[in-house]
Amino acid sequence: MNLDTLIRKNILDLKPYSSARDEFSGEAMVFLDANENPWNQPYNRYPDPLQRELKEKISRIKEIPVDSIFLGNGSDEPIDLLIKAFCEPGIHHIIQMEPTYGMYQVAAGINNTPVRRVPLADSYQLDVPAMLAAVDGNTRMIFLCSPNNPTGNLLRKDDIEAILYGFDGPVVVDEAYIDFRPEGSFLPLLGQYDNLIVLQTFSKAWGMAGIRLGMAFARPDLIAILNKIKYPYNINILTQAKALELLDNADEMSQWVSVLVKEREILAAQLTNLPFVEKVWPSDANFLLVKVKNARGIYNYLVSKGIIIRDRSRILLCEESLRITVGSEEENKILLQALQSMLEV
Ligand SMILES: *Cc1c(COP(=O)(O)O)cnc(C)c1O
Repeated sequence: MNLDTLIRKNILDLKPYSSARDEFSGEAMVFLDANENPWNQPYNRYPDPLQRELKEKISRIKEIPVDSIFLGNGSDEPIDLLIKAFCEPGIHHIIQMEPTYGMYQVAAGINNTPVRRVPLADSYQLDVPAMLAAVDGNTRMIFLCSPNNPTGNLLRKDDIEAILYGFDGPVVVDEAYIDFRPEGSFLPLLGQYDNLIVLQTFSKAWGMAGIRLGMAFARPDLIAILNKIKYPYNINILTQAKALELLDNADEMSQWVSVLVKEREILAAQLTNLPFVEKVWPSDANFLLVKVKNARGIYNYLVSKGIIIRDRSRILLCEESLRITVGSEEENKILLQALQSMLEV
């Protein structure tokens, strides 16, 4: 993959903003370079624009070199920056599978980038020939999501590889839910495919949705482009400090994952027994896609009981389907009791 021909010319030519902390990033006795207030430590100081300490730690956990890691304000930031870097507004388009995470399309829309949507095939797996047939000279990116939201399934490894091999532009594999199925990650293949970009996040299994921290992994020259076009201080000091602390909780995270996977299977089994449930799709994530009779009615009933799930009925291939996040044992029981009580009214 040749970045010089794929990245927008204005981005290639851009001279990035150089902050005080870019120009001098070491230790010093007195910092008088950034117009900061000398009081109110440590909040008075601008954060490290490249989040070096945090990246070192992530690098050790993920076994990926620091210069192949980009950190963003959630995964949503790299999604937006990738589209900005590659897609000339109104000219280049992206390809995504359907149904999938809604943010690719929104980020594309903001950038006036058209989206070609290719429906998934049987069992919500990729239709590889259709995806590759949608590619033309103006295709600048393919977005894949595995495990996929809202369908919950991991995509077949061979299919993702066929896309990586068959398309010579960037292929994004969004692995927001990969901690629930770590053996399915494409991160170990980063060195093998120079057009692979893997997205992961601390919002799901790691339990840090509130601090907004997402990761992109790719070849170093592409990471350098993202660093060049991001906001200079995109990850604030509170987020960096909290993430450094919570990343020591890897054992607790694994614990949460195993409990949630167990709870997911219990919940799936119990939902299957309900007469208005037509299908519970197998899930590799922390949620279930459930096909029902009268999705809107069930959704509204649960809202009236103070329980909020997601009605995905209006999405292609998700007709009459609800997306239910797996909660704690207690929360799942409350949900099941409410659904049982529907049978009595
Ligand atoms: C939840 C989710 C994300 C995470 O987004 P953040 O901005 O990191 O919170 C990314 N991709 C998918 C498919 C998701 O479901």
